[in-house]
Amino acid sequence: MALKLPIFMDYHSTTPVDPRVLEAMLPYFTTSFGNAASRNHSFGWTAEKAVDDAREQIGKLIGASGKELVFTSGATESNNLALKGAAHFYKDRGNHIITTQIEHKSVLDTCKRLELEGFEVTYLPVEADGQVRPEAVRAAMTDRTILVSVMLANNEIGTIQPLKEIGQIVKERGALLHSDAVQGIGKIPFDVSDVQADLVSLTAHKIYGPKGVGALYVRRKPRVRLEAQIDGGGHERGLRSGTLNVPGIVGFGKACEVAMQDMAVESARIAKLRDRLESRLMQALPHVFRNGSATHRLPGNANLSFAYVEGEGLLMALKDVAVSSGSACTSASLEPSYVLRALGIGEELAHTSIRYGLGRFTTEEEVDFVVKLTADKVQRLREMSPLWEMVQEGVDLKSIEWSAAH
Ligand SMILES: *Cc1c(COP(=O)(O)O)cnc(C)c1O
Repeated sequence: MALKLPIFMDYHSTTPVDPRVLEAMLPYFTTSFGNAASRNHSFGWTAEKAVDDAREQIGKLIGASGKELVFTSGATESNNLALKGAAHFYKDRGNHIITTQIEHKSVLDTCKRLELEGFEVTYLPVEADGQVRPEAVRAAMTDRTILVSVMLANNEIGTIQPLKEIGQIVKERGALLHSDAVQGIGKIPFDVSDVQADLVSLTAHKIYGPKGVGALYVRRKPRVRLEAQIDGGGHERGLRSGTLNVPGIVGFGKACEVAMQDMAVESARIAKLRDRLESRLMQALPHVFRNGSATHRLPGNANLSFAYVEGEGLLMALKDVAVSSGSACTSASLEPSYVLRALGIGEELAHTSIRYGLGRFTTEEEVDFVVKLTADKVQRLREMSPLWEMVQEGVDLKSIEWSAAH
């Protein structure tokens, strides 16, 4: 069977809507188009019922009650609401926030904003495998610490954080724990009570739901308070005004239900494909390095550095495959990925990294195609590289002074 090109291997960036999810959503665009806030007629009641059912489906996936969810436009908004909302509400208790250097930009930039307002933020470093040491959290906590924000799993390297241990420490000190759980839910088991999280950010489009809909879990017992960031009609218990995206929320709910049903089998299948991709690439090519943890890692993630190859050039050579690179020009900044730098990976290797993200619709044929294509292109690019030639001749590159271009 012929492969359909380009192949999508960028499931950390987004995912296609699952056909089962789309089917569940469709009636809410047309026949059942009511506003969930309309209390006076059946159009509203139907929409409200659909939203409440979705709340339960989403809550179930994370061990929460549907009543503890606030719907948002996605995880960027959820992260903003969690951090700004908690910081503003609890500012009289303290002004210190702890997070990590490898959080998503929507956490880091929100923390930067809070610093401008006078909050103090500690950005914890991570180990070489991308994990935060729970003891580092303990050491950073002070009597002024109101909030700790640590992601469940990283979007670039897939590293899963020891959240349960971190939650224990945060609770001992009486602070709040927020987690950006976007990349982990539906792929690895996660329970808000198990990790003692107070606030958890979610989004639908990373788990085969639609884009533009997310949620923030806000613990009710003991009750966590937030300052609303969007004012208006008082929807979502006053925490997030605005007419609910009913079809989106229905899709989000269905996506969670499917994820919960299929998680164990699906994650095992995807991890096997990822291991196949990784081991075959490493067999085919010398000087391939894994970024992040080999063991505490999302099943669909392989972040690999191909030494002596520019990530940009490789990305271009791999135009039949949708992947992303930790190299500079994929983003607006000139720096290589801040996540890879936080692992202590040299700029050279950071520039040669490719993130493969496998998911629900990835096939073995696709993996084998991508392995062959990557191996061919890396070999070709290395043959054109003067650095590679020097390595082949046995020159110790570390002895060479790098030019300003590097
Ligand atoms: C994608 C992503 C986000 C942002 O989610 P949106 O719903 O696209 O705003 C936040 N955090 C992580 C870890 C992500 O991967």
